[in-house]
Amino acid sequence: MMLGLLLARAGVRVLVLEKHADFLRDFRGDTIHPSTLDVMHELGLLDASLRLPHSEVAELKAQIGDVLVPIADFRHLPTRCRFMAFMPQWDLLDFLAREAGRFPTFQLRMKTEVTGLVEEGARVVGVQAVTPEGPITVRADLVVAADGRYSVVREKAGLPVQEFGAPMDVLWFRLSRTADAPQTLGRIDAGAIFIMLDRGDYWQCGYVIAKGTFEQIRAAGLPAFRERVARLAPAVRDRVGELRDWNDVKLLTVRLDRVSPWHRPGLLCIGDAAHAMSPVGGVGINLAIQDAVAAANVLAEPLRRGTLTDADLRRVQERRALGTRIVQRFQVLAQNRVVAPVLASRARTLTVPVGLRPFMWFPWLRRIPARLIGIGFRPEHVQTAARG
Ligand SMILES: Cc1cc2nc3c(=O)[nH]c(=O)nc-3n(C[C@H](O)[C@H](O)[C@H](O)COP(=O)(O)OP(=O)(O)OC[C@H]3O[C@@H](n4cnc5c(N)ncnc54)[C@H](O)[C@@H]3O)c2cc1C
Repeated sequence: MMLGLLLARAGVRVLVLEKHADFLRDFRGDTIHPSTLDVMHELGLLDASLRLPHSEVAELKAQIGDVLVPIADFRHLPTRCRFMAFMPQWDLLDFLAREAGRFPTFQLRMKTEVTGLVEEGARVVGVQAVTPEGPITVRADLVVAADGRYSVVREKAGLPVQEFGAPMDVLWFRLSRTADAPQTLGRIDAGAIFIMLDRGDYWQCGYVIAKGTFEQIRAAGLPAFRERVARLAPAVRDRVGELRDWNDVKLLTVRLDRVSPWHRPGLLCIGDAAHAMSPVGGVGINLAIQDAVAAANVLAEPLRRGTLTDADLRRVQERRALGTRIVQRFQVLAQNRVVAPVLASRARTLTVPVGLRPFMWFPWLRRIPARLIGIGFRPEHVQTAARG
């Protein structure tokens, strides 16, 4: 959606295809990073976007056992907004779609699921899609796969994927929330990682489990699961009964992988389609948006002039690949050194891991994760001018 907005604004004809009827799904995180807020400012959309219901968090803290450990302090970032905004992602996507719709060069087609590619020789020249009215074919100078971690487009393109594995999956569910409740909560304890995102009148809850153990948890029964949640988050003990059956609990599978190359003649992958991100660190949305900004900066002009070449697509990958590789390496490290041992731990309570203790003693250290989470390795800025 961000790439669609940027290209349409730069005078390129864009068609965004989305398979669902709306963006009202809750399987993504809600974070809007300081670097994304900078992009919104560069587009003249910052004030309007911050008028949407959201909360602002200047410091990220993790509850580890009984200790609250400050991890990231955004107040020193060289960005316009020195906080992380939490906003339901459908509100942000609806907002971007509305803003993009102001440009005559932008079109969004919902309920349109891409099922295949149209190819001429080695070149991708469009996509096949199904709609409620029947199948359609769309021809295009460039197809961008921004269809997430189960990308059909990258699979059909036959791009090689390197998988790094993830030791966990996430159980995703809602519990009601009162207006006076604290903001985002979460807890890491022996055998469990639990997060709660404030979505106004309810908590979006994520219960991290060891990969492949969902059937075991189901077999132990819903009352046992409710009790596990209540123990981790006593503040919602009186609400866990809202989980009436297992249909209220969704299993999200976590993937960590990367394609290489990100492109073929006529096709480019960005976001999770190019590099599926683990939820560790909450950075996937930032990377996806930064990919979009970089792609628009490099591709708008050749697309407008009709001179796009494979070298242009390679330039996008070259700009974005190194930062992505480094972040994924950190995620693998955190998965192996923190997530897997925590989930495997059978201790009565968890003590703060040695590697995290310096964050409690030296406040300036918290600026490092703030930079990695809030900005990343290579922040992108809007360089395309608005036309029309
Ligand atoms: C449990 C969990 C929690 C996370 N929490 C965070 C977080 O807090 N912060 C963070 O930064 N990152 C988080 N992430 C990672 C983040 O969700 C992703 O990195 C990010 O959403 C990637 O954006 P994207 O636009 O590439 O893909 P997506 O957000 O997955 O969007 C892909 C879109 O394409 C559509 N689509 C899919 N297939 C087709 C098709 N065939 N035809 C048409 N449309 C299609 C989908 O409906 C969807 O709208 C989390 C991930 C998980 C699994």
